[in-house]
Amino acid sequence: MADFLPVVIGGGPAGITVAHALSEKQVPSVVLEKDKQIGGLCKTVQYNGFRCDIGGHRFFTKNKQIQNIWENILDGEFMTRPRLSRIYYQGKFFNYPLRAGNALAGLGLVNSSRVIFSYLKSQLFPVNPEISFEDWVSNRFGQKLYNIFFKTYTEKVWGISCKELSADWAAQRIRNLSLGRAVLHALGVGKGAKVASLIERFHYPRLGPGQMFETMVERAARHGAEIRMNHNTVEVQHVKNQVTGVKVQTQGNGISIPCSHCFSSMPLNELVLKMQPLAPDAVLDAARALRYRSLITVNLLFKKTTPLPDNWIYIHSPEVQAGRLQFYANWSPYMVPSGGFSSVGFEYFCFEDDSLWNLSDGELIKIALQDLACLGFYHEQDYLDGFVVRYSKAYPMYENNYMEHLKVIRDWLSRFGNLYCIGRYGQFRYNNMDHSMMTGLLAVRRMLGEEVDPWSVNAEGEYLEEKAT
Ligand SMILES: Cc1cc2nc3c(=O)[nH]c(=O)nc-3n(C[C@H](O)[C@H](O)[C@H](O)COP(=O)(O)OP(=O)(O)OC[C@H]3O[C@@H](n4cnc5c(N)ncnc54)[C@H](O)[C@@H]3O)c2cc1C
Repeated sequence: MADFLPVVIGGGPAGITVAHALSEKQVPSVVLEKDKQIGGLCKTVQYNGFRCDIGGHRFFTKNKQIQNIWENILDGEFMTRPRLSRIYYQGKFFNYPLRAGNALAGLGLVNSSRVIFSYLKSQLFPVNPEISFEDWVSNRFGQKLYNIFFKTYTEKVWGISCKELSADWAAQRIRNLSLGRAVLHALGVGKGAKVASLIERFHYPRLGPGQMFETMVERAARHGAEIRMNHNTVEVQHVKNQVTGVKVQTQGNGISIPCSHCFSSMPLNELVLKMQPLAPDAVLDAARALRYRSLITVNLLFKKTTPLPDNWIYIHSPEVQAGRLQFYANWSPYMVPSGGFSSVGFEYFCFEDDSLWNLSDGELIKIALQDLACLGFYHEQDYLDGFVVRYSKAYPMYENNYMEHLKVIRDWLSRFGNLYCIGRYGQFRYNNMDHSMMTGLLAVRRMLGEEVDPWSVNAEGEYLEEKAT
């Protein structure tokens, strides 16, 4: 084991927060990042003067410590932006939360009555037992509403039937703030408490989320953190329940780095599969059973200003393959060159063995252009160029039995006193960046001797978007 050298696997928000927090205490560390760019899912990719997110990233938190870090790091570069996101379905926009007039106009009288009848039916004859996402949603909102507003988008994102998605996931992500409740309220039915309003403004770095984490890394590097890009961790070595070092691949070479502590934000199942000596078979099987969904963003660039006011739009129409569209210039005008340009990120969700993942950039751009033609938001002659960003393992999949696998893995990993699992895929959590950063802060405090648990961070994202009452 190294005398004293904490090693951080992954240079996304969680890993960078660890290096930054350690540097503030004059503790040196080494960050190993397999990508050529820092920031993980929060990096900002640049192309000919245009900037894009991996999905739009709102900076919103109820955690004062994280908010203070953000404001301190970016100071005057941290903008407050208005939020607008709508749902696009059968050629119509639906506000979210829905207003009665908008819901009725969008759905029409016939569909609205069907929604009401199917809701009443679900209250009289609920599905029992409630196992899947479909059961959970249709029991609360009725089958018709589920079909219109939940099924298509959810299946685009997860690539599996809503019958196979766990009801836990719905309960955790949808909770009180539900589109379904909003629609039922708008139509004059539904029960329970009032629908919560959403936060109408959020923070955003002037030059995209990457700016936040690039600035944090610069500060950490000035105070003792060593950042190694293109360093892919391929092995995590342990002796007598202590991690003693990691092996990385960089530019075709294998290098071993001894460590005193290991913070891992690489995918939890990869960590398990890379432990040397190997984990017991049951733990390896649990690791192989956890799956992630990947994300392709096709960015189309236009010589025309953004035609819509939204930051992003959910596309529920099944004839369009993209699940969501990001209008970057509405996030920050500095995301596009000045002088009447705009860009749109078309988001496609897939597995890495899907044919979509392996299409060439040209083929993917063609699909996005077809989707655009279907939506009609721009004229063909305004199109300039396009570029593609692939992010492998963007969404941990909450499939029906994922909790059991997670338990097996966590039980086994808990024996390693100097190993800290942090972050979104490091903990296999569908979380936001403030949660990821918080896991990093707690892990550092634990390393320094406090009785705190990085797994205890609450990651109920939708809940966190509700306005405080
Ligand atoms: C489409 C989308 C939109 C989102 N929008 C928001 C939002 O609006 N607001 C919000 O707060 N959150 C949002 N999130 C969530 C946010 O992106 C994550 O919570 C956050 O980025 C997770 O940070 P992390 O450091 O845990 O993981 P990551 O950002 O995934 O970073 C992990 C890092 O580890 C590296 N790595 C992986 N394997 C290895 C290896 N073997 N060796 C070395 N390095 C490795 C990766 O390259 C990566 O850089 C969004 C996520 C997605 C997918």
